[in-house]
Amino acid sequence: MTSVTRFAPSPNGFLHVGHALSAIFAHDLARQNGGRFLLRIEDIDVARRRPEFVTAIFEDLNWLGLSWEEPVLVQSEHFAEYLAAADRLIQMGLLYPCFATRSDIAAAADPEKTDPDGAPLYPGLWRGASAENVTQRMEAGESPALRLNMEAALQALAAKRGDAPLTFVEVKEDGSQETRTAEPQRWGDAVIVRKDVPASYHLAVVVDDARQGVTHVTRGQDLFAATDLQRLLQELLDLPEPVYSHHRLIKWSNGQKLSKSNQDMGLRALREEGATAEDIRRVILA
Ligand code: GLU
Repeated sequence: MTSVTRFAPSPNGFLHVGHALSAIFAHDLARQNGGRFLLRIEDIDVARRRPEFVTAIFEDLNWLGLSWEEPVLVQSEHFAEYLAAADRLIQMGLLYPCFATRSDIAAAADPEKTDPDGAPLYPGLWRGASAENVTQRMEAGESPALRLNMEAALQALAAKRGDAPLTFVEVKEDGSQETRTAEPQRWGDAVIVRKDVPASYHLAVVVDDARQGVTHVTRGQDLFAATDLQRLLQELLDLPEPVYSHHRLIKWSNGQKLSKSNQDMGLRALREEGATAEDIRRVILA
């Protein structure tokens, strides 16, 4: 099967060697089997995105010797489509407005319970809130986040699929495949439409992976748990199921994660120090 893969960076910092691994992994997989490699700019976080980081993404990927199909999908140009998908979930009765702030959640959450990102598990503050309560906040000019009612979503899933468990196929480095069970309930009532932007990472990813015909989602292990929630959204929205590969993460020798604010492993910094694209390939594919 020919694959359609994508690299989907968020332009809120310069790319580092971890991104290079993600990009090269997706690119080479597509090239090896005559597939297609796409680039997607995930810039829904409008407060953090910066145009110079978008330009830098193109420059750095070019420098790595990668090529991708045009036009490049830019998520901030597609908010209407994310809202249309959210609207379908609303029609199914699966989203509810939530006005809780981070501190409201922290104060009410069980300190023992966190989501896979380590954030406090949402304690259901606005689930089942009265229409009056919601209207009052709206009239005061506040805008809510929209959260998935996880229990209702799992019921809707069961109504569609019966007892068939929600799964995804993980393709390992040697090409073998393993079927994994998805556990979206670990995320609790996740945010599907943010307060500040009319989308969320999970919603935009599933809408775009489907729209772009992505057949093989490749990304780092840090997004392994995201797949559980994304598989649930795909099923609820009748979107096709891609296969997945979650590659190893590149870390500092002390085990710490690379970050965009920590630019020592930044591709531009390495380039300025004289590294070549071949050097980067050698290091990350070692
Ligand atoms: N935009 C995400 C990031 O930069 C990656 C999304 C994905 O590959 O699904 O971490």
